[in-house]
Amino acid sequence: MFAHYICNARQKELNSVAYNSSGSSIFIFKNTLFELQSCTVVLTMDYINQATAFLNLQWSNILHLFGNEEKNVFVIGKCVCHLSLISLFIYVCRKGTSLVLFLSFCAVNSFFMFLDFTGKPKFLHKYKIQKDKNIPVEPARFLHCCRVAFRNELLSCGMVMLLYPIMKYTGMTCQAPLPPIWKGFLHFVAFVLVDEFIFYYSHRLFHHPFIYKHIHKMHHEWIAPISIAASYAHPIEHIVSNALPLLVGPILMGSHIAVVWIWLVIAQFETCLHHCNYHFPVMSSPQFHDYHHVKFNECFGTNGLLDWVHKTDVQFKKSIQAKRHITYYGIGPITKLFPSKDKKEN
Ligand SMILES: [Zn+2]
Ligand SMILES: [Zn+2]
Repeated sequence: MFAHYICNARQKELNSVAYNSSGSSIFIFKNTLFELQSCTVVLTMDYINQATAFLNLQWSNILHLFGNEEKNVFVIGKCVCHLSLISLFIYVCRKGTSLVLFLSFCAVNSFFMFLDFTGKPKFLHKYKIQKDKNIPVEPARFLHCCRVAFRNELLSCGMVMLLYPIMKYTGMTCQAPLPPIWKGFLHFVAFVLVDEFIFYYSHRLFHHPFIYKHIHKMHHEWIAPISIAASYAHPIEHIVSNALPLLVGPILMGSHIAVVWIWLVIAQFETCLHHCNYHFPVMSSPQFHDYHHVKFNECFGTNGLLDWVHKTDVQFKKSIQAKRHITYYGIGPITKLFPSKDKKEN
């Protein structure tokens, strides 16, 4: 196809030479450039069409794995994205298919769980944000945290089952074809904004002195958090602040379930990362939420938007953590790039 368009462009170039033999060479050059640009656009569209056809085929295979039953795709598929050992147990008992999604998510969390439980490999300690805290985590405390987190993941699965009729009502679908990329992207933007809105205001509410001691204090037992502590919370907090912010966006937008799956996996990964207390190169920065676990009274949101609006990031912006709150590229730790004058702060 590329050769065809190149030939076409060449032929038109020759024609322009023939018809404009008395004209300037600039005209010929512009004509050829325009044709080559057209070729590039057509080729790009061609690749996008081929990629879309490929993705649609893969999606049909996934639907087939779920026996082409919509309820299975909605409820169980989402449970798989909300993953925990308990949801795996339910999932395997009930259907026993499509473990690939589960394993891909588990690989991320199990890496941090191994690191937190054993304190190995040691060379990763230099990336720790709060130096020497919870390396390794005290076993009884670690197991208690895992138990609570898995219980909460089970709650998330139950919530998805309850929300299934509402999902159907707002037009969420799993049917092929997949939505166009631009639409998926727009839905993603909406998910991020809705997530920030619900998480920020519910989180601030949970910090009200009257409610804090009964509900949110539990999550703040982890001043130096670990990745699995992302789901270490009172059940009410887990439903309102952790599960709902992720699900309301897709429900409001009536999104395709494939887009929702990608969103849930990325969001879960990011939440674990924000609690892991390690600032690795290339990865997004956990400094913002880590600061909240240390100071309690700032950085309530997920991405900083509403903290900026409500000025609940004033002290954070003056801190060394704010300078380090970037995605960086290099082998060394972020503390080498932005060393602190205060030795207590590394
Ligand atoms: Zn937290
Ligand atoms: Zn808090």
